[in-house]
Amino acid sequence: MRLKNKTALITGGNSGIGLATAKLFVAEGAKVTITGRNKETLEAAAKELGPNALAVEADITDVAATEQAIARAVEKFGKLDIVFANAGIAGNTPVGGTALAAFEQVLRTNVTAVFFTVQAASPHLNDGASIILNGSVISVLGNPGYAAYAASKAGVRAMARVMASELSPRGIRVNVVAPGAIRTPIWKGAAPTEQAFAVLEKRIAGITPLGRIGETDHIAKTVLYFASDDSAHVTSAELFVDGGATGSPAGAPVFRG
Ligand code: NAP
Repeated sequence: MRLKNKTALITGGNSGIGLATAKLFVAEGAKVTITGRNKETLEAAAKELGPNALAVEADITDVAATEQAIARAVEKFGKLDIVFANAGIAGNTPVGGTALAAFEQVLRTNVTAVFFTVQAASPHLNDGASIILNGSVISVLGNPGYAAYAASKAGVRAMARVMASELSPRGIRVNVVAPGAIRTPIWKGAAPTEQAFAVLEKRIAGITPLGRIGETDHIAKTVLYFASDDSAHVTSAELFVDGGATGSPAGAPVFRG
């Protein structure tokens, strides 16, 4: 067990990547607090995760709610060893068709709330703790329609490096996991039906050297690496878990003869 006696906070732990990570962390011996807004999925996740997990309803864009969620986590399981600031939203913000509120909502959720999650957790972190922020390949790909999301995830990378400097005196490490396309509910906006998702998945597989969409476990296992002592000397790193989509795009199936 790689997280025995460790306590963790995972924002957005009731769905997708966050939920898969929470399951893996519990299996590895951690006590895990998850947050999210959706009561139903929080309750279902709590049931699935069992007695070593606590589910707290909290909107991460609400600083007071985040502080309260962290207080409850610490009260139940003790000071934190791991924070996975994972909660995030997508959002279509094309030039020429975007309202200010929509743009700001993406930045508020994906950047500002991540900062305030780390700030709220900071006094409750054990020395030597590990913070992992969830980035994205979209921060470097230039995909159309993603200005706010891309800016937010590039902001996550930049912020992680600053946090790594600031928290290094306490031996606290800060790293970024940057997923490629992963099969989660976040794609519901772009592909609302099963048929639409099948088309999207084929397209993603075509532009990914490893020829497939990623699964939540691919990311959870990378987060486990950052969370555990296996990465004891790794801080301010960003690890792309994308089947080669950013590093070796010319190897993708669409380019093969
Ligand atoms: P998901 O299944 O939709 O999960 C998103 C999670 O964030 C949910 O648990 C959601 O919970 C939570 N969340 C969103 N806004 C919130 C808010 N204001 N307050 C509290 N919780 C909030 O999607 P996912 O793919 O697992 O996404 C997780 C992270 O991975 C995101 O940061 C995303 O940008 C990143 N990512 C995903 C992909 C991909 O292809 N799936 C690729 C790169 C990066 P509630 O709805 O209950 O609030």
